[in-house]
Amino acid sequence: MLSAQKIEKFSQEFETWTPQQIIAWAADRFSPYIAMSSSFQTQSMPLLHMATRIIPDLPILFIDTGYHFWDTLMFRERIAHEWNLNIVDLRRAAHWDSFVRQYARTLPLEDPNLCCYLHKVQPMQQALKGYKAWISGIRRDQTAIRAKAHFLELQENGLLKINPLLNWKKEDVKRYIEEHNLPQHPLYEKGYRSVGCAPCTIAIGVNDDERSGRWAGRGKVECGLHTSMFNTKDISESQSEFRLDITKST
Ligand code: SF4
Repeated sequence: MLSAQKIEKFSQEFETWTPQQIIAWAADRFSPYIAMSSSFQTQSMPLLHMATRIIPDLPILFIDTGYHFWDTLMFRERIAHEWNLNIVDLRRAAHWDSFVRQYARTLPLEDPNLCCYLHKVQPMQQALKGYKAWISGIRRDQTAIRAKAHFLELQENGLLKINPLLNWKKEDVKRYIEEHNLPQHPLYEKGYRSVGCAPCTIAIGVNDDERSGRWAGRGKVECGLHTSMFNTKDISESQSEFRLDITKST
């Protein structure tokens, strides 16, 4: 376990390291107790490409919300096969099934924070319990919340979150994709610059902010994986962010 001082020191040093150097450092220190999350959108391809070349059997955590575009699931299958990836599918806890079946169409619109919590945050919290480190692809230029992130972030449960691409801009992502001739998500050319779940993603213009097509016009910019919601211990701690009072029925 790294001390808080060492985490801060490494985090500052990483400001000048390449993503590959940071991933190699993490591999030396944490393998095999290290995993990476990926949404398999176009901007995820560089980190997926470099990380799985440094750690070939790296577990890739994919959150299967049940709301993905068909295109995302087919693209994920193709890349998993071509790159021989070790993918771990994450799904919501079974006790939510009857609730989600009943409100499947309305939940993402009525209460997207609750929907993201039970489909994304909770499954990721559970999955990462078996690991010491989590590689994430967030970048500072994506949202105001991500702009304040650090290369190393110790979670309250002791898990170390590692953000190797933090200093990359979208131009760096584009350059890496071109240099390595990486495949693009099939919806990218149709204007989906950032692809999440189908009910919460729209196509945008070429000059629009990269994530402006996510939860557009609904006052939400993050799913909760990269906010304080991820550090909540149970649903009652997140209740203030939900519209529905779910604490009485779970
Ligand atoms: S992105 Fe939308 S559909 Fe997906 S989990 Fe969040 S609210 Fe639900």
